[in-house]
Amino acid sequence: MKDSSSSLWTAQILLHYHADMFTRMLKLRLLNAVAPAYFFTATAVTFILHFCFFIPTLFPNPDTSPGGSKTLHTVFFLFLMFNALGNYIMTIKYPAESANETGVPVCSPHCSDMVDAHYLLNGRHFCKLCKKVILKRDHHCFFTGNCIGNKNMRYFIMFCIYTSCTCLYSLVLGVAFLTVEYSLSFENPLTFLTLLPFSTGYFFMGTISGLQLFVVLMLYVWLGIGLVCAGFCCQQVLLVARGQTWCQMQRGQLVDNHSPWRNNLMDVFGTRWILGLILPVQTVETCTDEMDAQKQD
Ligand SMILES: [Zn+2]
Repeated sequence: MKDSSSSLWTAQILLHYHADMFTRMLKLRLLNAVAPAYFFTATAVTFILHFCFFIPTLFPNPDTSPGGSKTLHTVFFLFLMFNALGNYIMTIKYPAESANETGVPVCSPHCSDMVDAHYLLNGRHFCKLCKKVILKRDHHCFFTGNCIGNKNMRYFIMFCIYTSCTCLYSLVLGVAFLTVEYSLSFENPLTFLTLLPFSTGYFFMGTISGLQLFVVLMLYVWLGIGLVCAGFCCQQVLLVARGQTWCQMQRGQLVDNHSPWRNNLMDVFGTRWILGLILPVQTVETCTDEMDAQKQD
């Protein structure tokens, strides 16, 4: 009798555990679909605002406007966008997955069975969202819907840098647009804190247009994405320089890496890293899975 009640108790705990894991996994899958959609919408909106409103308003006369020429701003914006989107594509195009393993291999004895991944051995993980074995996995990026590992880390870092620059540049042009078009003053630093609540109130009172409220809203979106990307990029560069991955940090595993930070950075950014800073091109040599496994050992 005692045995049957304890086994029922165990079964209930197991059922509860599996239901909890299922719900958490479902949330991650939803995030994996929503985040890329959010990224593409924000990109399209930024393009439209730049070319339909900001540039025509701020630079009405080509090459004679104060604050720089129209062509220069257009080329600079397109350069930032090209690098952000190019590195986004490269992150997906050159994933850090193993070419040899497709199924779920046996877990490592130290596998903590994270919600999104199984730990295997030698820095390899089985990502439950990508459904692939990932070499030297760092984390799963929901905006690209891909895992970030040693092979695509360089593109991912450049994607963060250029997304941050595009957002902060859009923020500056957005502020200039609101000043020129709607005579808003940003001289008081507190303006940014009260701008959104006041603009929302004025919009519902019918004092300001929908476009003005939308640009104000986008200022906060750009500021948010810009700061998050910049912070994330700094964290990734520091981890790469130490030869550590985010996965290892989560498991409380500190890498005893004796190679200098220059070598660690070179390992991720490749030998032609200067070219990679200005263009989304392949600078990391594609090495075989065996070579990657050897590096881990
Ligand atoms: Zn993944």
